[in-house]
Amino acid sequence: MEKSHKIVLVSGAKKGLGFEISKQLARPGATVIMTDRDEPNSKKAVETLKNKGLDVVFFPMDITDLGSIRRAREFVEKEFGRLDVLINNAGIFIDDKISGLEVDAETVLKTFKTNTLGHLLVSQSFIPLMKKNRYGRIVNMSSGLGTLDEMGGGYPSYRISKTALNAVTRILAAETKGTGILINSMCPGWCRTDMGGLLADRSPEKGAETAVYLATLPDNGPTGSYFRDKKQIRW
Ligand code: NDP
Repeated sequence: MEKSHKIVLVSGAKKGLGFEISKQLARPGATVIMTDRDEPNSKKAVETLKNKGLDVVFFPMDITDLGSIRRAREFVEKEFGRLDVLINNAGIFIDDKISGLEVDAETVLKTFKTNTLGHLLVSQSFIPLMKKNRYGRIVNMSSGLGTLDEMGGGYPSYRISKTALNAVTRILAAETKGTGILINSMCPGWCRTDMGGLLADRSPEKGAETAVYLATLPDNGPTGSYFRDKKQIRW
């Protein structure tokens, strides 16, 4: 396969922003591996894009399960021999009615395991493949709710998990500097998905734009930064 053909992997790809990002990135010259933990619905989502003529494949990956992450890495290595773009998109939001004064340890840990640790482990698994090729773009799907500069009350476990994901971005970006891998965080804005709800002011199409921008950065692009609407924002 030609080097200019990009191999992309998206987590949490069966619906919402992950689905939309997969759709936008699966243009000519790219193969998108759509991963998610819910196999029957994910396969249906992948079929929808295949029927539009897009080059997408499905592979199951639960980002809280190390064995599952390992199997996905082995699949990518065997089928494609490399990974160019990783979109760490999967996420959960299970404390929208809980305050920081009341949130229980289980909710904080469960959210952290998916929204932070899952993306760290997936990145650790795929970065060696990117390093071999001296090329990689990693997009960590964070949220304005995790921005310290805008931090307020409510949604404690979600906020903490996204602030920590931003720390993962900075740490891995520092540790991969000069290897051809660019790692950035982004906030998609408030988007109409199952998570965002119907009242959200943005379409998933709009929310996906910055992810596509960061996934296709030129070699001299930024790393270890935080974006919204394709512009750098404060942490
Ligand atoms: P959705 O809930 O619509 O989609 C999230 C997807 O991630 C689902 O398919 C979900 O599967 C999957 N997922 C959850 N846990 C895991 C796991 N352990 N392994 C693999 N897949 C998993 O959310 P959105 O599309 O709205 O959000 C996508 C990302 O964008 C999230 O990280 C979210 O925090 C972030 N974001 C969203 C905003 C919004 O307004 N929508 C705003 C800011 C950030 P399942 O259905 O089984 O749970």
